[in-house]
Amino acid sequence: MPKISKKPCPRLKIIPTRSIGFCSGVKRAVELSESALKTRRDPIYSIGPIIHNPPEMERLTGMGLKVVRRIDEIPRGACLLIRSHGATPGELAAARKRGLCIIDTTCAIVKRLQAAYRGLVREGYKVIVVGDRNHPEVQGVLSQEKGRGQVVGGLADLKKIKLKGRIGVVAQTTQPLHKVQEVVDFLLGKTEELRIINTLCPVTLKRQEEASDLAKLVDTMLVIGGKNSANTSRLFEICRKVNPCTFQIERLQELDFRREKSQYALGVTTGTSTPLWLIERMIEEIYSTGKGSGPKPRRKEGENCPKRT
Ligand code: SF4
Repeated sequence: MPKISKKPCPRLKIIPTRSIGFCSGVKRAVELSESALKTRRDPIYSIGPIIHNPPEMERLTGMGLKVVRRIDEIPRGACLLIRSHGATPGELAAARKRGLCIIDTTCAIVKRLQAAYRGLVREGYKVIVVGDRNHPEVQGVLSQEKGRGQVVGGLADLKKIKLKGRIGVVAQTTQPLHKVQEVVDFLLGKTEELRIINTLCPVTLKRQEEASDLAKLVDTMLVIGGKNSANTSRLFEICRKVNPCTFQIERLQELDFRREKSQYALGVTTGTSTPLWLIERMIEEIYSTGKGSGPKPRRKEGENCPKRT
């Protein structure tokens, strides 16, 4: 639960989900980065952001982290932070060849997904990866063993694939359970041998469940997290399904004070890469600008969300 220093507006009720802020994987990645930035003399680089939260990345780059797009932009002998989504074997080999020191912040759950994929491919399965093909985590998984994996975003993609022989299924760690279930149900009727390895992140699933439950009860639901964060976007979709008054914001400046203060019960959830300092600042702002707003009746069943002005 975030610490709030300002006196809350008595008429405005802010209800956060039970779990909020960094997950263990992101916490570890940020702690390893901070410690390297404080203690090492050589410059520290990452290929792409180490986590998908722009305000937190700005804090880390302010401490000296340099974000580049390719390994060859990193000077020889510098230090490379592998982000929580992992790296491709090609990137790792190139980093070693360049003599870079490697600090691996890949989350253990992502490593487990990579190992599950490799295992299925080596056992001769054609592997369906449920996920977003452009996400670095999925790219990192496919690059473990080339040529046997096929990424599907949902049933529409799956229907275009020739399903022959032994089929294995894994999923990007932040995919919603129902999407994976849909894919598995479809495959059950089409394949002779189907092997499913559950690679979904339990932390993400728990947060999705908590967010959905809370969104059903409140007037407005606020999802705080990076616009480039897959798990935050997922939370937003899930909450909006059950509460049309759901908004996603990344930065303090995006808070719509008129909107937030006009609501009586405001639910708050966050992506797993949203830092606590940002959540606390946002909640303080909402409380302070909510002063003097009158209590509003709870949104009735089926009533539309007030338009954003
Ligand atoms: S969301 Fe799950 S898989 Fe992703 S970094 Fe956090 S703990 Fe790891």
